[in-house]
Amino acid sequence: MNKIQTSDLVIKSIKIKPVDIGLTDAFTISQGSVETAENAFIEISLQSGIKGYGEIAPFEELSGENRDFCVKTAEKLKDHLTGKPVSNFIRLSRIIKEAAPDQPAPLCGYEMAILDAFSRSLGISFWELFGGRRIEGLQTDITIPILEYQRSLELAEEWHKKGFNTLKIKVGSDFDREVKLVQHINDIIPGIRFIIDANQGFEVDEAILFIRELEKKKCDVILFEQPVHKNDIEGMKKIKNTIEVPLAADETVFTVQDALEVIKNEAADVINLKIMKSGIIDTLEIASLTLSAGLKLMIGGMVESRLAMGCSLAVAQVVDGITFFDLDTPILMSEDPLAGGYAYDGPLMIPNDEPGLGITPKVFQ
Ligand SMILES: [Mg+2]
Repeated sequence: MNKIQTSDLVIKSIKIKPVDIGLTDAFTISQGSVETAENAFIEISLQSGIKGYGEIAPFEELSGENRDFCVKTAEKLKDHLTGKPVSNFIRLSRIIKEAAPDQPAPLCGYEMAILDAFSRSLGISFWELFGGRRIEGLQTDITIPILEYQRSLELAEEWHKKGFNTLKIKVGSDFDREVKLVQHINDIIPGIRFIIDANQGFEVDEAILFIRELEKKKCDVILFEQPVHKNDIEGMKKIKNTIEVPLAADETVFTVQDALEVIKNEAADVINLKIMKSGIIDTLEIASLTLSAGLKLMIGGMVESRLAMGCSLAVAQVVDGITFFDLDTPILMSEDPLAGGYAYDGPLMIPNDEPGLGITPKVFQ
């Protein structure tokens, strides 16, 4: 086998293409609504001719980033990265953070493309680059956003028929209606499990009461996500110490420092990893810290296509110790702008073995 030369791994050129991806239903949460995923794909070409791909998937209401802003940043970053080898990916990650601080979505998109190009160059899968392994049988939940009441019921039944046994219900906008909805779903689909995600929509007392109301009807709530404002560490702690259901911090944790705060203050039982909040390298660090501290992990995403979500599946195969999987947004899309990669069989995620992530945006084919 010929040794790979570092000069082959040098970034020769970068392309960025915005992409609009349709959704079957509007993705509405307590903080805002997305009708079309306004994302962008990155293509990095190396001197060797090998290419790597990344996705930028901002959710403005959650991270303050929108696509225009992210694409402008990504364009600006081209000069900082061109001419450097992808094998220096930790250094490249720092360069991006210094040139564009607090912009996790472009950081994530670039890290994805850099690591995809590097693992493709080595002829190994993305998770192998970090010592991970192929994991079969991982299952995702499925999200029911805030929709018209009947539509929510209809979707719950449809997903259950397709084999999904964990529904993630978005709440935090209309307490009585949402209590009724979850109880109603529990009545018509016996044995169904729930993840309840309020996206910061509750006050502390409401959050506790919400779970109490579901307990009265014996709803099987396996996780309660981010009930209160992301900065309300004390509120999170109070809820965690009052309810039996495990509490997950999502919007509270973007950075490694945020994860340390949650751990130090015992403010959650679970941390929800999202590469689009933290970038890939820091997501791996947050995962290590969280598991070391004895907390559990969830992995989710913004409104991402199979490229970014495939990267999260690869991250899950590296971390190898995640309890809750919320990698469902490609299933909520009305189109698939990608070729190759992992597949869904109902809730089951079937990993692929091609080098890198093995996924190519059709816009670059
Ligand atoms: Mg969440």
